[in-house]
Amino acid sequence: MFIVPEREIADLMTRDAAFDAVESVFAAMASKDAYNFPVIREAIGHEDALYGFKGGFDKAGMTLGLKAGGYWPNNLEKHGHINHQSTIFLFNPDTGMVSAMVGGNLLTALRTAAASSVSIKHLARKDAKVMGMVGAGHQATFQLRAALEQRQFEKVIGWNYHPEMLPNIEKIAIEAGLPFEAVELDGMREADVVISITSTFAPTIMADHIAPGTHIACMGTDTKGKQEVEAALLARATVFTDEVAQSVSIGEAQHAVAQGLIKESDVHQLGAVINGTHKGRTSDDEITLFDGTGVGLQDLAVAASVVELAVAKGVAIEVDF
Ligand code: NAD
Repeated sequence: MFIVPEREIADLMTRDAAFDAVESVFAAMASKDAYNFPVIREAIGHEDALYGFKGGFDKAGMTLGLKAGGYWPNNLEKHGHINHQSTIFLFNPDTGMVSAMVGGNLLTALRTAAASSVSIKHLARKDAKVMGMVGAGHQATFQLRAALEQRQFEKVIGWNYHPEMLPNIEKIAIEAGLPFEAVELDGMREADVVISITSTFAPTIMADHIAPGTHIACMGTDTKGKQEVEAALLARATVFTDEVAQSVSIGEAQHAVAQGLIKESDVHQLGAVINGTHKGRTSDDEITLFDGTGVGLQDLAVAASVVELAVAKGVAIEVDF
């Protein structure tokens, strides 16, 4: 088996490789060549940790495995490690033998950024000029950097619940050579593309904060009870997701479905747009909404890609197991 340690990932994995891996696996999910296993997430009763597994099998990419890990809230203070910790394990689908163990922390950030980026490629208007960010935490910087590669953006606007964090995303805009402007939430109407990536349990983006024609990628809601946007926005939008079952149970669509504003059948797989079996955006006035809940197959896809890169560069550690 090969081991690719966390410390090697930054030098190996590119945004392009993450984008390609995630786009391919979304397509495979929609054509039923790949499926995710039910997610396990447990409060283990030690260190206030949440620990779990996300796994799946992609028959098209021949990727089988799981990501194990979770959230240890005391890590940084007590041990000097980041609070989110994960490791990805890959198995040979022909034999069941373990084939790789890969650091999953940076890969999680890159695969999540790739998901909103893939949604922008396939659903945003081609003439999108203003990029809007709601959220300015750890993950927001990754989402913005990847998003800016998808269209000829001319400006970035941003809002965050904690305004003192806005310089995090302003820095990314400036690095990309774009002006940045902090706005109030109703100023988001100027944006052609919006990404929300916050940990809120109460919606901050209301339906009238989003103008007709906008593409919005909602990336923060990955747990029951979390909610970033008013449910009424989903009723006004054409809704896409990575995985419908997750979208209606732990994603942004959980609230609109529970309130009877939309049905599960109104939520479409982004992979179907990639495959050409769903038409995607049909007019310049349509609001498209991507509910990115985060699936195990995304993790496996980027891990498989990074193992290939590590082997090619001679930095994968080979272990006889
Ligand atoms: P972070 O802690 O670095 O940032 C949290 C963000 O949420 C900040 O912008 C903060 O200001 C904002 N926020 C906090 N409380 C808020 C409130 N009450 N109202 C509005 N905004 C509030 O976290 P992160 O690593 O950037 O992750 C952000 C979210 O994305 C988390 O909910 C995380 O679980 C989720 N996430 C989703 C995926 C996925 O695949 N969909 C992957 C990784 C992370």
